[in-house]
Amino acid sequence: MRDNTVFKNGLKELNIDLSDKQLEQFEIYYDMLVEKNKVMNLTAITEYEDVLIKHFLDSLSVVRSEKARKLLSSSCKLIDVGTGAGFPGIPLKIAFPQIHVTLMDALNKRINFLNEVISTLELKDIEAVHGRGEELSRKDLYRESFDICVSRAVAKINSLSELCIPFVKLGGFFIPYKSGSIDEELEEGKNAVHKLGGHSTDVVRFTVPMSDYERSLVVIEKKSNTPAQFPRAGGKVFSKPL
Ligand code: SAM
Repeated sequence: MRDNTVFKNGLKELNIDLSDKQLEQFEIYYDMLVEKNKVMNLTAITEYEDVLIKHFLDSLSVVRSEKARKLLSSSCKLIDVGTGAGFPGIPLKIAFPQIHVTLMDALNKRINFLNEVISTLELKDIEAVHGRGEELSRKDLYRESFDICVSRAVAKINSLSELCIPFVKLGGFFIPYKSGSIDEELEEGKNAVHKLGGHSTDVVRFTVPMSDYERSLVVIEKKSNTPAQFPRAGGKVFSKPL
């Protein structure tokens, strides 16, 4: 049995209570992650304690935003754009089983891995969708239909807003996970956030539990519908950010 004291202490700091079953789901997810990582590129972080802190606790630390904590305590619909190996979407689904989660990634190999995780952990109300955010948010099924959109380590706020805000319902929230100093990035992203119907309400800055890793969450509320011309096609989201 591995020593997960660091994880338990971090959970306490975040005020998240997990059952033995949920703790076991995290253990199984860790095993699947490092096993699959031998044959495909999922993560550079593989040491047990590092994964507990830098992936699991970091993903869960979105609860540092009181708005996010409130939504996650309800049966909200959450989308994780550019989820990769499932961060932050899978830890959030394990810790808050009543939420509905859509994991989205442009790489099908990662989606296949996520489907294995979903089935092994017997997670319900969760789907892994293959595709690019800027294409899928044009579909009625996904457009403006989520209470909360999260995204970690995918792009800068200007491009990321065009990828993510179209998925969010009016009154819902887009919360990108950011690290270090983000003032300049935030300033550069203001125009995009505004044009897409968002309004930056606050930035929550903290240190990830059991580490000295500085994290910022930008809490963006959707105040008006995203105009139909967004997101733009042909790679403009990245080559010519708003
Ligand atoms: N969110 C995960 C994490 O924090 O560990 C993965 C981060 S990884 C650096 C970026 C992920 O975003 C990759 O899995 C990539 O395939 C995905 N991605 C990049 N552009 C995307 C897009 N336009 N739509 C959907 N996924 C995208």
